[in-house]
Amino acid sequence: MDQAPGSPQGPRDQGPQDAQSLPTCYRHPDRETGIRCTRCERPICPECMVSASVGFQCPECVRNGSGTGHSPTASQPRTLAGGTITADPRLVTKVLIGINLAFFLVQLSVGDRFTDRFELIGQAAFSAYGPIEGVAEGQWYRLLTAMFLHGSYIHIMFNMLSLWWIGGPLEAALGRARYIALYVVSGLAGSALSYLLAAPNQPSLGASGAIFGLFGATAVLMRRLNYDMRPVIALLAINLVFTFSPGFNIAWQAHIGGLVGGVVMGYAMVHAPRERRALIQYGVCALVLAAVVIATLVRTVQLT
Ligand SMILES: [Zn+2]
Ligand SMILES: [Zn+2]
Repeated sequence: MDQAPGSPQGPRDQGPQDAQSLPTCYRHPDRETGIRCTRCERPICPECMVSASVGFQCPECVRNGSGTGHSPTASQPRTLAGGTITADPRLVTKVLIGINLAFFLVQLSVGDRFTDRFELIGQAAFSAYGPIEGVAEGQWYRLLTAMFLHGSYIHIMFNMLSLWWIGGPLEAALGRARYIALYVVSGLAGSALSYLLAAPNQPSLGASGAIFGLFGATAVLMRRLNYDMRPVIALLAINLVFTFSPGFNIAWQAHIGGLVGGVVMGYAMVHAPRERRALIQYGVCALVLAAVVIATLVRTVQLT
């Protein structure tokens, strides 16, 4: 069957697919997908979806003939969110894992003195090494640095596995710049909600806020692509059960802050209209960041 590139049939118009009979990406046979290239009609996964003038095309079709379409501006291939397509679609995820592991090694070798200095603490408390100051005393950097620190081997292992598993495909689908914005702002949203709601002398740390943000954005993306949502919902439910289990002493505020931020920004990334797409995507990230700043200022005024 021949499909003209300008035909109106895009992924948007496809109904929900039967979950049992989803085809797999022709370039990645281990990945199921509900989306097909609008030109050759072969199934493609998010990593292989190039944003075309109508719907998505596969990398081969884009390489072979972007000149025959009616849109001369579509010469540079883009990810489904409008990002640039790169040779290593998971590079940022690898770098983020590297940064987290490096910080963990420093924590192990320097010890609690280092962790006390950079984890999230709302207001001055006493540690074994004397008085320390918190965000309320002006150490804003703790909101950022806390998201690269971890409390135990299990903690960092769990977070880095999630980061690789969820973050890798998401980075490929969004492109690097949008992915970094999502990761950092989600992490900050988690820190800000912790600062706002948790006891000020309760230290918290970990990449979980950022990773819950990736979760939220993944859920939005999978919904948009008519994927079977059950695996991601099950995974999220397990994580939320852990979050609210009294035995685990987990900062639920960071998880919920990251998750909400990730859903909001993920929605903008995936659903922004093609015209002024980048403006809307980064504009929404800026709005979430503004909420982070406001929450931080409100809490600081409360505490001082
Ligand atoms: Zn194709
Ligand atoms: Zn693929």
